[in-house]
Amino acid sequence: MNKGGLLGWLLFFLAIIMLGILAYNYLSPSLPINFTQNQSTINLPSYNGSLQFYPNMRFPEKSLTYSIDAACSQEKKDRMIQAFFRLENETPIIFYSASIGNVLVNCRETEAPKNGDTFIAGEGGAKTIIKTDKFNIIEQGEILLLYQKACNNYNVELHELLHVLGFKHSDNKESLMYNISECNQRLTQDIVDELKKLYSVKELPDLHITNVSASKHSAYLISYLDFSLDVKNQGLAKAENVILEIYSSNSKIEEFNLETINYGEGKYFKAKNIKFSGDKVSFLVRTSEELDLSNNRVDLAISN
Ligand SMILES: [Zn+2]
Repeated sequence: MNKGGLLGWLLFFLAIIMLGILAYNYLSPSLPINFTQNQSTINLPSYNGSLQFYPNMRFPEKSLTYSIDAACSQEKKDRMIQAFFRLENETPIIFYSASIGNVLVNCRETEAPKNGDTFIAGEGGAKTIIKTDKFNIIEQGEILLLYQKACNNYNVELHELLHVLGFKHSDNKESLMYNISECNQRLTQDIVDELKKLYSVKELPDLHITNVSASKHSAYLISYLDFSLDVKNQGLAKAENVILEIYSSNSKIEEFNLETINYGEGKYFKAKNIKFSGDKVSFLVRTSEELDLSNNRVDLAISN
């Protein structure tokens, strides 16, 4: 057989193989192949919430507003403001007066109610709490000052204010967070330290991707990606202009604008038939500035 004949046969077989591939793709678009996720870790703040009702309770901002009801006596108003000053001096929190505050202070000047033999000097707590994976975010809290006669200090006001900030009762009789008030109780350092830690976290959003599912299918020799996922904001501020980027083999193949995601909120997103090649896909979510960038990316690979 001469050289020309051999080349002819080779080209003929190559053509047969190509036709076969085309026919296979044309007649039977491939079944979707699922991707598996490399587990990404979420870095929780190192502090625990043992002093508080829920872990990591804080207001989103360290500048808080308060409003004291006109029904409160001047004495109670003055003491409440002294309690705010005390925390301002020892923690990063700052308090400002406003018409409707984050901290609402109300008073009742009739005889204080009783619980068994003890008078109830006041009540206080967080009213609105938004749960995220990192924080329990307090949006508003309320204090009710009920006492008629109290110690010559602002312990009742500070006790109720600390309830608003998420702190529960202490077993320590010397702590002003003990459930029965004595005049010589004091603010303990563990509470001050916890407030310093909680309010030193920057007031930024923190996006992360979860519940990802993705699959690949192909037709006419072209591969396509279908996916769905949730983007959640577990930080302390609204995330604006959120962008979701899709990467294949480290090159960006598509991006979507998810607009705004507030803290405690998430967005479900899905897309189909994105042109795609390779066996690996990465999803990356970004906004201007964040608490933690290590949880913004999810990498997937085809499962066997
Ligand atoms: Zn209490």
